[in-house]
This record gives sequence, C-alpha cells and structure tokens, in this order.
Amino acid sequence: MTPPPPPRTATLFHDVRPFGGPAGDLIAVDGVLVPEAPAGAVVERVDGGGRLALPTLVDAHIHPDKTSWGEPWRSRRPADGIAAYVAGDVELARALPTPVGERALRLMSHAAALGTRAMRAHADVAPAYGLSGIEGVAEAAAKLAGIVDVELVAFPQHGVVRTPGVAELLAEAAASGLVTHIGGIDPAGFDAEGEAAGGDQLGTVFALAERHGLGLDIHLHDRGEQGLAPLRDIAARTRALGLQGRVSVAHAFAVAGLSGRALDETADLLAEADIALTTVALSVTTILPFRRLAERGVRVGLGSDGVRDNWSPFGNADMLHRAWLAAWALDLRLDEEFEACFRLAADGGAALLGLPRADLRPGSPADFMLVDGECVPQVVVDLPRRDLVVRAGRVVARDGRLV
Ligand SMILES: [Zn+2]
Repeated sequence: MTPPPPPRTATLFHDVRPFGGPAGDLIAVDGVLVPEAPAGAVVERVDGGGRLALPTLVDAHIHPDKTSWGEPWRSRRPADGIAAYVAGDVELARALPTPVGERALRLMSHAAALGTRAMRAHADVAPAYGLSGIEGVAEAAAKLAGIVDVELVAFPQHGVVRTPGVAELLAEAAASGLVTHIGGIDPAGFDAEGEAAGGDQLGTVFALAERHGLGLDIHLHDRGEQGLAPLRDIAARTRALGLQGRVSVAHAFAVAGLSGRALDETADLLAEADIALTTVALSVTTILPFRRLAERGVRVGLGSDGVRDNWSPFGNADMLHRAWLAAWALDLRLDEEFEACFRLAADGGAALLGLPRADLRPGSPADFMLVDGECVPQVVVDLPRRDLVVRAGRVVARDGRLV
C-alpha cells in the first residue's frame, strides 16, 4: 500500500486590502492565489492587520555590477560623455574592496526586500573585467533564487567595435549559459568610430543572439535621427531574423523626443516587430510616453538603471520610488495617472520579462507586498515602508529586510 500523499499547505493572509479595496483574505497554494484553501489543506495564517496589498514590482533595467551600494561614499569627478563615464566605471570597480558578486547581492537583496520580484540586470563585458561582472551578478542571482527572478544581459558598455576584445568576450558570455540577453550600445554615436572602421555592432550582437537563442537588449541614448536610424535598423533585423518579442531597447531617448504622428509611426514600427522599450524616468525630456506607446501595442518597462555608481550617486533600487520618480518627472496630479505609474512598475516589466501578471486575483502569482496606506496614488506619493513582501506565497521580507 502506498502511503497517502501529505496534506497540501495553504497560506492565508487575513485582513488585507487588495489595491486599497475592501478588506479580505488572500490565499496562496503552490505559489498561486486561489479563491479558497483546498479541502484538508494545512492552513498557515498570516495577519495582514488591514494593510494594503499591492503586486510586487519588476525592475526592467538595473546595473548591479557597477554599484557601490553599501560601500563608503565615493566622490565623482566631472565626466563629459560615455567614454569618460566608462573610464570612471573601471576606476571605481578597481577601487572598491568588495567583490562584484557581493556588491550585486547586497543591492539585489535590498531591491527584493523592497518588493522587486524580478529584474533584468545588465553587467558590463569588456577586457577591463572579462566576464567577472556577469559571473558576479549570476552568483548573486543564484543565491536569490525563489526570491527574485533575474534575467542577465551581457552589456558591451565599452562598445563592441570601438574596443578590441569586446566582441570575443560577448561570444564567450553568450556561450557561457549565464546570460539571457546580449546587449548593445549607441551604434551610430558612441560606437560609430568602430562602425566607420568597418565594424558592425548590430550585425555582431544579432548574430550572437540568433546563434545562442538569446534575447537582445540594446542601450540607445542617441537622440534625433542618430537614435531613430538605429531603431529602424533594429526593427528590420528583428523581423528578418524572426526575433519578434525577444528584443528590447533601453532609454530610447530619441523616442522620448517624439510626439504626434511621428511618435505613433515609431510606435507602430516597434509594435510590428514586437520590440519592447525600457525607461528609467530620469526627467521630463527623457521619460518615454509609456501610455501612448502602450495604446499602440508597445511593451514598456520601468527600471532603476545605475544605483549609486560612477554615473550617478542617485538611485536606491526601490521600484515604488521609481514609480514616484516617473510621476514626478511628468508632473502628474490625477489618481489614474499615479495608478498608471504603479502599473508601469508592476505590469510593464512583467510583460517585458514574460512573467505572468500579478494582479492579486485567483490564478495570479502570489507575489505581493503589504503596506500601511489608503490607496494606490497615496502609496506612490508617500512611499510607505514595505511591511511584508510575499513571493510565491512565502513571506520573503519584513520591514525592508529579507527574512
Ligand atoms: Zn543602463
């Protein structure tokens, strides 16, 4: 006789208010929310104390390898362009006493404790570091398995064709099994010198992605036609190689500069190739018009970008704060606008990473956080402490710290 299977377990979060609505229970079984606990299940109860329940968030663009988070304050020197910033990155990485894996883990743990359920992390691949950046972030991601899902981009921050050795390292990264995406950077601006000498950044990174079955996530800071021309090129290559749904463009300041018909036409081009965009809500001139883009079928995610690194002392890997920044950059006032910023942080990145949408309804992943608050707009403005963070039905953090 085979013994009976062990009883199923359910976790019942009592007295919580999904999105600030009426109080009720959220019940998680096997990582998913269910309408009621199965008969005979062992039920573990967690008291929500009337707190607001919100889906946890997705950081669609972060650089954990560059961070000095948790390290003593670093003073920055003036920098006048990507090459100067890149030189500063290398200097900082050499000066920091803490290995990249440890720094990345510290930052990613902090993000998870503040309610980040998944992230797409970029890590520099260049002769100055070899593959140590991606190895360090991959090591941190492995330690956080089950708490935060991590996609990893091999990012050629130093340029693919302007810096000898990067293309070979990207190929090594692609074959390593550690990365989900190959990156790219400003083919018509920063990397153009190499292009002029016969290099072909987009050709190189698309070929690697296709050969290894990886996605692409390309930084595009260039504005105006210098940014739009590569965007059209990326769209054409995406369609030609059948990589629809696998390609994203980060920042896309050239798109942020568009309005009216020009914006709609670019949005349609992106939607046709199913190319997603990410924005980091730096300012009113650089934040993407994410609602208009979404209306035209373009997936848009929100991200932290660099956190307390050589590029900027700002950033805190708190995606709720990033929603606040988006609302601040756009000078928003209306409730529905704040809700849209929250949704960008919650659903935008989830769509980008191909994760199921967390909406607190039965069938949704049991990924949520509890905060003391009234309603979504008020929470985005006031940024309350994350009292409890739940991942796949399990409490993973309390009061801003992993348990
Ligand atoms: Zn970036």
